[in-house]
Amino acid sequence: MRQVDTLLTGGTVVTMNAHRDVIEDGAVAISGANIVAVGPVERVRHMVTAEVEVDCRGQLIIPGLVNAHTHVPMTLLRGLTDDLRLDVWLLGYMMPVEREFVGPDFCDVGTRLGCAEMLLSGVTTFNDMYYFEEEIAQATVEVGMRAVLGQSILKFPSPDADSYEESLARCRTFIEAWKDHPLITPAIAPHAPYTNTDEILQAATALALEMDVPLHIHLSETALEVQDAERDFGAPPIEYVHNLGLLDAKVIAAHCVHIKSREIPLLARSGAGVAHNPSSNLKLASGFAPVLDMRAAGIPVGIGTDGTASNNDLDMFEEVRLASFLPKATSGDPTALPASDVFAMATIEGAQALHMDQEIGSIEIGKYADLVVVDQQAPHATPRFHLSANNVYSHLVYAAKSNDVRHVWVHGRQLLQDRRLLTIDLPAVRTRAIEIAASINDFMAEREGSLFNKTVAIGGFAQQETYEIQVKIRVDNFDAIEQALQSEDFEIVKHSVRQQFDTYFCFPGLMTDHYLRYREDNELAGPAVDGRVMGLSVRPTYTLTLMEGVIEREYRDSIILSRSRYTAQATYSLRFYREYFNPDREYEVVKWRHRYRILFEDTEFAINFDRVTRPQGLGDFVEIKSRTWSATDAEHKARLASRLLRRLGLSSTRDAHGEYLDLVRKAV
Ligand SMILES: [Zn+2]
Repeated sequence: MRQVDTLLTGGTVVTMNAHRDVIEDGAVAISGANIVAVGPVERVRHMVTAEVEVDCRGQLIIPGLVNAHTHVPMTLLRGLTDDLRLDVWLLGYMMPVEREFVGPDFCDVGTRLGCAEMLLSGVTTFNDMYYFEEEIAQATVEVGMRAVLGQSILKFPSPDADSYEESLARCRTFIEAWKDHPLITPAIAPHAPYTNTDEILQAATALALEMDVPLHIHLSETALEVQDAERDFGAPPIEYVHNLGLLDAKVIAAHCVHIKSREIPLLARSGAGVAHNPSSNLKLASGFAPVLDMRAAGIPVGIGTDGTASNNDLDMFEEVRLASFLPKATSGDPTALPASDVFAMATIEGAQALHMDQEIGSIEIGKYADLVVVDQQAPHATPRFHLSANNVYSHLVYAAKSNDVRHVWVHGRQLLQDRRLLTIDLPAVRTRAIEIAASINDFMAEREGSLFNKTVAIGGFAQQETYEIQVKIRVDNFDAIEQALQSEDFEIVKHSVRQQFDTYFCFPGLMTDHYLRYREDNELAGPAVDGRVMGLSVRPTYTLTLMEGVIEREYRDSIILSRSRYTAQATYSLRFYREYFNPDREYEVVKWRHRYRILFEDTEFAINFDRVTRPQGLGDFVEIKSRTWSATDAEHKARLASRLLRRLGLSSTRDAHGEYLDLVRKAV
């Protein structure tokens, strides 16, 4: 008779072994970290004597669930901002807030909160990608859960590294420190192709191979990502990383929603696992992952919750249920993906996707004792049929709720007993979580109230504030003025022709004096005749300019000194900025511009001949501008500008204006 630590008796054991054995009135014996006996209760009783016996009659004993993809400390960002497109949500909100707040304490609290939530929904192993993974590892080990922890690698500064070289070095140290821990599998997590470079992805792959650890990455999550990859890399994301050799590592690919059919064999041959995240894909409208095709090709597909900021919870039972419904609805076939297959994805196949199926994922002798007891007393769990073994999977996938989880063991240690968390002081964790949320609240309130801060949050401004002397005059035609420009008084330094598409974002309330201008500027390479240019457009440039409608001073001839602007290169799309800044009103101005840079009395001026084509009927304008930096200089340049006007035969008394936006606003 063997002495064991714990014996679970009388429950229905859903083994998830290769035969998918389901043992009614079964028993599971735990000794140390491992399962040492499984079988009908009478037989197991003859084999072992146990220190502790847990009566599981009327309950199900299942393998601990595997959450195949998450960002666990993001529990602290739950509900911060929702109902946005992925790029606006991630680049506009999550990453800026993370850069500001994510540190060791944040990750410690967020992990404990996430672990509490996961244990209460029957999760024993999770696959994480975040920052400060050493803090996450420490907290996870103190809680007693099992995890694959991927240290994030990005091409831009992240909360825990100023450069990718630093994050790679950090990742190496992390892997070395945790490599042989019984609960933690350290991993490297280049966030996604679009947030990395060839060089970084190859360096990450090399590190994963050298240290023999998994490589966790987001791949083909949205249609836009695939489109951009085809444009930027000449291949869809999975083909692209395959070409880089990344699939040689033990890859865990999150999402694969828009995987192309020709990419499926690439993943299958490489032995990569996929983490399917139904809630996140539905909520962010990313689409429907071809789970049936990937599984048919032999790719192990696990189920993940993704982070709580895109879900917004870590409830695996809900995730399993959604994972079962989605392929049925999208294929129009209710026989697609039966409940037993979905339950496998949440257990043994999920373990395989994490390259851990030798250790966990099923209830078999020798495997780690990661076990969950699911109660069956609730009305929604009543009755249960025994016609076939499949009845139990129907029950688990279609009816069971995470509230039914009663007990959880990980690595042979009990972490949840009658829904009581044995290793987490939940009230203390909640208090700290609420404190952190309060400071995020303050930060967001300040940021959302200032266009400047809001722009800085997504990349900042390249150019400092400048002051400008300027005057704008409506003219009937440009001929006489162009003629005058040819005189000896002027030296033309540069002349260019461009078509500019300006979109002005206007805001209500306190910010009525501030507006943003998104400009697409197409400089043309050919000669222009009357606004029509017989030439080729060069690559357009995009800028975002924060303007204040403040006139600092007015001089004679309607010449004004304006405190102008902060300019940034616009690296995102107009659609992105529109959704991110959410303006109250938008105005559009399209114009042809002849831009001259001239020297007049040894001073540089810009002279623009603008033909506004949208809105129609606004007219033709001449603009004269010069940058300035002091009150005396401004005074001097204003006098020069007056003389310049006269020399060009222009009279400003007739019709002078400031910004095009003001003209358009009046016209509308
Ligand atoms: Zn994710």
